[in-house]
Amino acid sequence: MADKRDYYEVLGVAKGASEDEIKKAYRTMAKKYHPDLNPGDKEAEAKFKEVNEAYEVLSDSGKRARYDQFGHAGVDPNFGGGAGGGSPFTGGFDFTDIFDSFFGGFGGSGRRANPNAPQRGTDVQANVAVSFEEAAKGAEKKINYQVIDTCEDCHGTGAAPGTSPKTCPNCGGTGQVRISQRTPFGVIQSSQTCDKCHGTGRIIETPCKTCGGQGRVRRKKTIEITVPAGIDDEQILNVGGKGNAGANGGPPGDLHVYVSVRPHPVFERRGNDVWCEMPITFTQAALGADVEVPTLDGKVSYHVHEGTQPGDVFRLKGKGIQGLQSRTKGDQYVQITVEVPKNLSEKQKELLRQLDADTGEKNYQKRKSFFGKLKDMFGD
Ligand SMILES: [Zn+2]
Ligand SMILES: [Zn+2]
Repeated sequence: MADKRDYYEVLGVAKGASEDEIKKAYRTMAKKYHPDLNPGDKEAEAKFKEVNEAYEVLSDSGKRARYDQFGHAGVDPNFGGGAGGGSPFTGGFDFTDIFDSFFGGFGGSGRRANPNAPQRGTDVQANVAVSFEEAAKGAEKKINYQVIDTCEDCHGTGAAPGTSPKTCPNCGGTGQVRISQRTPFGVIQSSQTCDKCHGTGRIIETPCKTCGGQGRVRRKKTIEITVPAGIDDEQILNVGGKGNAGANGGPPGDLHVYVSVRPHPVFERRGNDVWCEMPITFTQAALGADVEVPTLDGKVSYHVHEGTQPGDVFRLKGKGIQGLQSRTKGDQYVQITVEVPKNLSEKQKELLRQLDADTGEKNYQKRKSFFGKLKDMFGD
């Protein structure tokens, strides 16, 4: 084997070629030298073997690495020998791939994803409801959800405890069976997924009772998550690796937690600001007063100045919410409503009448301005 050509040269690709480039080059070469298209051509047959051998090595990342490091000595020198077989199609190679592209889905034995390949588990969803204060300040919450987990009784093998899966006798554990098909180009061998084991290469004789041989079970799970301060209604928290179990050693999926924030009886969130309405009395509005204002950090005192009007808004700086993405805290805005007294006693009414008789235009600037405008409109 001293005269073996470099595998990259055989496929006509550069040393750093991508998997795709290698595959493409292989298809082109395999078509060119395919013995069914070059009947009786010994040279084409030899080239075809060479191309297959090169592809077998370069398409396998482990073999390719060994080849890159040690050359031909690093990979099995007897691969694809074909010495014993009458057919050039020996050497354990799967031709389905070429023929699928060659003849457009030849023979109907489409290539399926390797059932033994590691597969990431799917993501799962759960919901959590938090109070307005919890959303603002953050909280630890228990989440209950359903997840597909590796069966603990069989450790995911699907075989009853004390037994193990057997090698599939139909395919000898390869998951693939070889079939011969007669075509205009001659008899072609290709492989198909073994239907006894569905390509896994294993047969479970005594299925695990817990999971029915699936190796995975659906179960309820509870985890505690940290809801970060500043979270808002309808945001989604991603908890990595807490989703459904993967297959064949693949990683688990994620858990997506949909957050709903319960409305607060007094506070309302606008961006990172907190708004609330606060009623004060007619007298407090007129005279000014020290009032207690509820905030997320507890009550704070505030001086409502003399002559405060309904709808006036004051701001409490930094009493809002620390947003998830913002550096600064929002503010709290308090909008004043003035409550007009009801159910007055005769004595109280009398006091108000006295007040009214004693007040005039200069006490009611808005009225003055309003009627002043009317005068402009209607003249007197
Ligand atoms: Zn099980
Ligand atoms: Zn099988």
